[in-house]
Amino acid sequence: MNVELLIIGNEILIGKTQDTNSNWMAKRITKHGHHVRRITTIGDDLDDISSTLRSILERQPDVLIISGGLGPTFDDMTLKGVAKALNRKLILNLEARRSIEKAYENAYKQGILKLQGMTPEREKMAYLPRGSIPLKNIRGTAPGVKLKVGKTQIFCLPGVPMEMKAMFKNSILPMLKEKKEQFIQKGFIFMGIGESQIAPHVTRLEKEYPQLWIKTHPKVGLSIEVELSITCFNVENGEQLVDEVIEKMKKIVLELNGKLKEY
Ligand code: ATP
Ligand code: MG
Repeated sequence: MNVELLIIGNEILIGKTQDTNSNWMAKRITKHGHHVRRITTIGDDLDDISSTLRSILERQPDVLIISGGLGPTFDDMTLKGVAKALNRKLILNLEARRSIEKAYENAYKQGILKLQGMTPEREKMAYLPRGSIPLKNIRGTAPGVKLKVGKTQIFCLPGVPMEMKAMFKNSILPMLKEKKEQFIQKGFIFMGIGESQIAPHVTRLEKEYPQLWIKTHPKVGLSIEVELSITCFNVENGEQLVDEVIEKMKKIVLELNGKLKEY
């Protein structure tokens, strides 16, 4: 499946928070053989959210995962932006309202929060774009949202990493597993030869094996350690081809008097 991620939050744009959510999700999506085609980061701005969402939907990814801006404060406007982009109304979802009420009741009983009952801010989180299915938030209060638009399955998850991860595992991972495709990533680290010296060999093998992505990554400064990484998605005999290239590359490194460091 083709997947896009949309990360929403002013705190990320001003450098207050580092976006770790997209990295965490991208790793898991890729591991199951799906392609993350694009990661977009924008602020909590209604027009930016709706226009960005529209352009993502034009590309028709199979899955779009949005993270951030589901909370009770006025600057959390992800769902308002989604509703605007889709020309759908935000309507009170009773299931979402019940789960929010329950989460606050529990927090009150445990002495975590002092304010009891529903308030307009808390109720705000139960207004979902028409056609949404609420997703349970077992680690927080704001429910997530699942919504199908054309061929794109949209998920809106909270920004708080702990809440995002729990919802991803419960609501998205089973689908990624069910539609699992093949992804292979293998490699090794070598020392004593620079990236530039190995580059012509990589180029030659890339031409010979166009289905594989063969890449070197310098690990420290002036290429004291270089990582060779080979990846491929859904290639027939992928495992065998990757192993073949690894062996060829190791031979080349040794012939050039480099040293191998396995990982
Ligand atoms: P809340 O109910 O807490 O407001 P929310 O869905 O509105 O949830 P945000 O307001 O977007 O979430 O983010 C809450 C906090 O979660 C941020 O202040 C930040 O610390 C963290 N956070 C948000 N987005 C990310 C991200 N992409 N990567 C890492 N941390 C994030
Ligand atoms: Mg918030």
